Amino acid sequence: MIDKIKQQIDRIKARSAAYLDARYYPFEESNELLMMNGNLKNASVSRESGVGVRVLYKGAWGFSAASDLSDLPGLFDKAFDNARAAAARVTFPIKLAAREPVHAQFDSPCMMDPFQVPLADKVSFLETMDKKLNQPGVFLRDASLTFIRKQIIFIDSAGSEIEKNITEVFAGLDVNGTDPQGVMQERKFRLGQMGKPTRGWESIDTELFAANAERIVRELNEVLAAQDCPKDDRSVILLPGIMYLQTHETIGHALELDRILGYELAYAGGSFVTLDDFGKLRYGSDRLTVRANALVPNSPGSFGYDDDGTPCRDVVLIDKGTLVGAITGRQMVEEANARAQRQIFNGSGGANRATAFYRVPIERMTNINIDPGSGGTLDDIIAKTEKGIILDGDRSWSIGSNREQFHFATEIGWLVEDGRKTKVVKNATYRGDTLKFWNSLSSVGSAATWELKYVDNCGKGQPNQVMQLGHGIPVCRFDNVRIGE
Ligand SMILES: [Zn+2]
Repeated sequence: MIDKIKQQIDRIKARSAAYLDARYYPFEESNELLMMNGNLKNASVSRESGVGVRVLYKGAWGFSAASDLSDLPGLFDKAFDNARAAAARVTFPIKLAAREPVHAQFDSPCMMDPFQVPLADKVSFLETMDKKLNQPGVFLRDASLTFIRKQIIFIDSAGSEIEKNITEVFAGLDVNGTDPQGVMQERKFRLGQMGKPTRGWESIDTELFAANAERIVRELNEVLAAQDCPKDDRSVILLPGIMYLQTHETIGHALELDRILGYELAYAGGSFVTLDDFGKLRYGSDRLTVRANALVPNSPGSFGYDDDGTPCRDVVLIDKGTLVGAITGRQMVEEANARAQRQIFNGSGGANRATAFYRVPIERMTNINIDPGSGGTLDDIIAKTEKGIILDGDRSWSIGSNREQFHFATEIGWLVEDGRKTKVVKNATYRGDTLKFWNSLSSVGSAATWELKYVDNCGKGQPNQVMQLGHGIPVCRFDNVRIGE
């Protein structure tokens, strides 16, 4: 099949196409299991395969994809015809940032292939967790497992050939209960990197999940018995379980270069960031250094090579508070440099990804991480906080249309008075203006507080493309934040 694809690439290239690439998926499998209140609600398997072809001709893309590979010439002709039709209507001729041809293989770290594990073992794990979660105060409980396995062969007209073998594991526990006012309260646990080097079936560690099951049940009951979060201005100390989402929504999505250039307005809004801002905007306090680091070991945001064939990189986005970079692919960096009439971006950041063979790649977060700081442990940060609240767990979120403001509700809050954690509160919320908020960052925890969280369901694009990624996040404190409304 690879040779046949190469022949077609050569054939269309000879018809004066500027560039072609093909992503051949010999297979992509997913396996999802969900147990809710002791009942196995879902145990499904899906499998697909096919090829997606991009052709660049006279400054325009043409795309075509098929799962039936019996007519490869027809598939490539269709992509070329689409490019020729689009070339008649070009508003901004597409150029791709330079890149050397790549011959490589990437295997995500996996010791035990979850697709080789018997269904009975997976169900048995869920049953064990279900029993742990079935405790007083818990009205609704669920335990879930999601496994993804795929092989992608990337071939382009410049001579690149990349094989990727990727296994993903996502798992979680959720408990819900009703408080005396009749409001549903929630606490959850999600599997993240947890400092481990691999994520096959071996990452489904029964002891780790059992300990977290106990913790979330205990914390849910504390929330159910708690008073409401006060309404005032104070310091907020965000644990990684909410800090990841703060970073995702108000840094990650805001710094996707296609969004900055206005290509994502319809679906999930634009970005307040403009091309003029690079190199000078004070995005946050000088304690804030953020990177799109696709080289972190064992994360869904580390995938070897993106769907432009660009090797993964570690790109600084915000350097000691100043905006310096974006989440980029080969096409948008050229357009941004041309529009800005200066070289903001030096090559692609290697972040162009498609969710499937039948979608075109767009700029996606990799691992959008915050560097650990000098704030010490969580206890150190609490000890230096006069009046604050510790927050964890995402419950709801709402973002301004250009990500200039936000409002998050969290699962749990712990008040801090005079350097001491006092009591749990429920219905804890906080809100802010993105730039003012990040500029109020007053303490960043040490590497000991840093956790790599997995995200399995980031949505972007029309049609929607669900993507997997990561956020490596320390505990952070922000000052003068409005809470409780
Ligand atoms: Zn997202």
